[in-house]
Amino acid sequence: MSEQPPAAPETEGGEASPVVAVASKKKKLLLIGLIVGGVLLIVISAVAGWLLSRGGAADTKKAAAHAEAPAHKKVEAAEAHSAKAEHTASEGAASAGGATDEVALKAEAERLKQDVSKLQGDVQKQTEMLTLSDEAAKLKSEIEALKAQKATLESDKGKIAEGAKQIRAGEKKCVLSGDPAKRMDELRVCLGLSGAKPEPGAAAGKPADAHAGPHWSYAGESGPEYWAKLNPEWKLCANGRAQSPINLVGSFEHGAPPLQFAYKPGEISMVNNGHTVQANLKDAGGVDLYGKRYNLVQLHFHTPSEELVNGRAADMVVHMVHKSDDGKLLVVGVLLNKGKDNLVLKPVFDNLPKEEGSERPIASGKLDAGKLVAANAPYYHFEGSLTTPPCTEGVQWFVMKDAASVSPKQFAAFTALYPFNARPVQAVNGRKVDER
Ligand SMILES: [Zn+2]
Repeated sequence: MSEQPPAAPETEGGEASPVVAVASKKKKLLLIGLIVGGVLLIVISAVAGWLLSRGGAADTKKAAAHAEAPAHKKVEAAEAHSAKAEHTASEGAASAGGATDEVALKAEAERLKQDVSKLQGDVQKQTEMLTLSDEAAKLKSEIEALKAQKATLESDKGKIAEGAKQIRAGEKKCVLSGDPAKRMDELRVCLGLSGAKPEPGAAAGKPADAHAGPHWSYAGESGPEYWAKLNPEWKLCANGRAQSPINLVGSFEHGAPPLQFAYKPGEISMVNNGHTVQANLKDAGGVDLYGKRYNLVQLHFHTPSEELVNGRAADMVVHMVHKSDDGKLLVVGVLLNKGKDNLVLKPVFDNLPKEEGSERPIASGKLDAGKLVAANAPYYHFEGSLTTPPCTEGVQWFVMKDAASVSPKQFAAFTALYPFNARPVQAVNGRKVDER
């Protein structure tokens, strides 16, 4: 978009106002609008001032004759430079004589006033349009999310209808516990709805979750704010003082512990555990921290990323979980944003198990975590916890500052299984967060 702004008319002292440069960018347009408005205001003031200084002299021929030349010149100049010169210079030329002159000048001042208010309106509109383009982008992504939700709900609707038919026909039985807080989740699991993980034995009354303890999830009555209530052994999820994830923001202390990466290509076996997809690793090396080895035992994903940097989540995060011989945990998080294919994680994304269940080895392809993190790559470090029940603390966390990428196709493959599996950020509670 570009607009030729009008040059300012000459002032009475003969000084020429600066010609405003042409600008093409939106933001410059706003500035130009304001400058043009300002220039027109100056013109109005000049005309009005001149009218006032003329006083009652307009009715004397002498004064009129004296005033004629400069007034005429001014009107023409103002008109020639008016943003919307709807009237012609001949109108100005016709305004010879004092009274006519004054009427013409008043009319001109009125027109200029209108021009200014119109320009102010244009500036206002442009400002609104800029805000709207931001809003539109936000709305577009919200629409995408709603579309995905709609598709899920439509498939759920079909499953509910089918399930109800089977239950009525006596082909299916949903065993629900007496606890009303759990019934919805139990029913979801029984009917195989989204967010619920169908268990082979669920319909026969086996626990919904294959793992020890009750079913937990990322939403609703089994969501993060209820984890501690679901199982007394998970109370740290509510009252722990060093929980993960956290928002990495502010100024960090330098001197994070020196982490040495010592990865090697390891064998992969995949498991969908009902909360995420996990790649268990064998002989994949690990990291050294103060002379202690932590072996890389598994990696898994969350979407969006659980950890925030300056309040912002990445599209995904891969958590590489390490364990020392004495059972201490260390997690290296690598943020993943949609972009290029992630070749290191390709064997994992190519083999995501759709159904929850037992571990399945991948025959072809090993995973070298050393290709996900560069030797001297910078990171944040803090002490935290598991981000899933039982929320155990005493976990060393390292979040890499450089994000890696996943292709939209890889991202879609994971989110088809887990559209949302991120615990909200937790209070830092005065913990030291350092960086390197
Ligand atoms: Zn995790």
